[in-house]
Amino acid sequence: MKLAFFDTKSYDRSSFEPLAAEYGVEIHFFDTKLSPDTAPLAHGCDAVCVFVNDNVNAEVIDILYEGGIRLICLRCAGYNNVDLTHAFGKIHVVHVPGYSPYAVAEHAAALLLTSVRRIHKAYNRTRDYNFSIAGLEGFDLHGKTVGVVGTGKIGRVFIDICRGFGMKVLAYDKFPAKDSGIDYVDLPTLFRESDIISFHCPLTDETFHLFDGKAVEQCKKGVILVNTSRGALIDAEALLDGIKARKIGGACLDVYEEEGDIFFEDRSGHIVDDDVLARLISMPNVIVTSHQAFLTQEALSNIATVTYENIRDFAAEGFSANELCYRCGRIDHCRKEGRERCF
Ligand code: NAD
Repeated sequence: MKLAFFDTKSYDRSSFEPLAAEYGVEIHFFDTKLSPDTAPLAHGCDAVCVFVNDNVNAEVIDILYEGGIRLICLRCAGYNNVDLTHAFGKIHVVHVPGYSPYAVAEHAAALLLTSVRRIHKAYNRTRDYNFSIAGLEGFDLHGKTVGVVGTGKIGRVFIDICRGFGMKVLAYDKFPAKDSGIDYVDLPTLFRESDIISFHCPLTDETFHLFDGKAVEQCKKGVILVNTSRGALIDAEALLDGIKARKIGGACLDVYEEEGDIFFEDRSGHIVDDDVLARLISMPNVIVTSHQAFLTQEALSNIATVTYENIRDFAAEGFSANELCYRCGRIDHCRKEGRERCF
C-alpha cells in the first residue's frame, strides 16, 4: 500500500515512520497541504493521509479518484473538511475517532484555568522579575455553572473534569445521551445560565456559527468561552464585538474560524492579514493556542496505530468501524450495522 501523506509535521513523521514496515505501508511525505493544486502529487499512490486543514472538496476528490486513490485516511476525528457526499461511491473515507478524548478535554481545562487564574499574565510578569499580583484576580470554578455543547467522547471527559472542580454542569446535544445523569437544556437556556461555555460538538452546516451575535446577547455578562472543537462554531466577529462590549469576560480558543492558512505554521516575523485574529490576540482576556489540544504522546501514538489499522482493514477488504459516509447516522439500517462497508 502506497500512502501519500499531506501536511507533514515532525511529530507526524516520529509517530508514523516507525510502524510503516510492520503494516506494509510505503509512505510518501509531503509538507504541503492537500488542495486542487497539490492533489496530483498523490497519483501513483493507493491512499492519502490528511489532517484538519487539508482541503478534500469535490474537485480534489475527482483528481484523487482519477489518479487511482481509493482511500482517504483522516488522521483526526473531525471530518468537516471532506465532501463526504461527493466521495460516496468513489473513495472510501476513514477517520480516527476518540484517539484521546482526555488530550482535548484536558487542554480545554488547561485553557480555562489559565484564563480564570491569569496564569498567562503571571508567567510573563515573573519572567520579567515583576512579582506584583495586582490585576491578576481570578474567580473560583467551584460552584460555577459550565455549559457543555456536545456530550460525545470529549464533552463527557470535560464534564467529569468540571464535576471534579465542584461545578454545576448543564449540557446541550442534538442527540442527548440517555440515562447519562447529564442535565440537558436547550441552547438559549445554556447560554443564559452558564458562567463558562465549552464547545465539543462537530462543525456541520447546522452548527456553523452556533455561537453568534444573538448568542452573545443571551449570555451572562462576563461569560468565559472555551472552544477546542472547530473554529467556525463561533462567529469570530461577533465574539470580538462581545469582548469589546465587555459582555464576554474571556475566550480560550484552540481553534479559529479562518485558521486554515495560519495555524500549525511559524508566522512570527510576518504581518498578520487577518484583522479579527490580530485584534483577538491583542486582548488581555483572550488566549489562543494553535489547534494543539490533540498534541499528546498518547494521542499521536493512537492516531498512527488506528490509521494503520484502518489501512489494513481496507486492504483486506474488510469492514471498518471507522469508515465515514454522508449517510452514516442519517439512515435506518445502515450497511455498517451489518458490518459491511459504506458502499
Ligand atoms: P463525538 O462524535 O464523540 O461527540 C460529538 C457530540 O456532538 C455527539 O454527542 C453528537 O451528538 C453532538 N452533536 C452532533 N451534532 C450536534 C449539534 N448540531 N448540536 C449539538 N451537538 C451535536 O466527537 P468527539 O470525539 O467528542 O469530538 C468533538 C469534536 O472535537 C470533533 O468534532 C472535532 O471537531 C473536535 N476535536 C478537536 C481537536 C483539537 O485538537 N482541537 C481534537 C479532536 C477533536
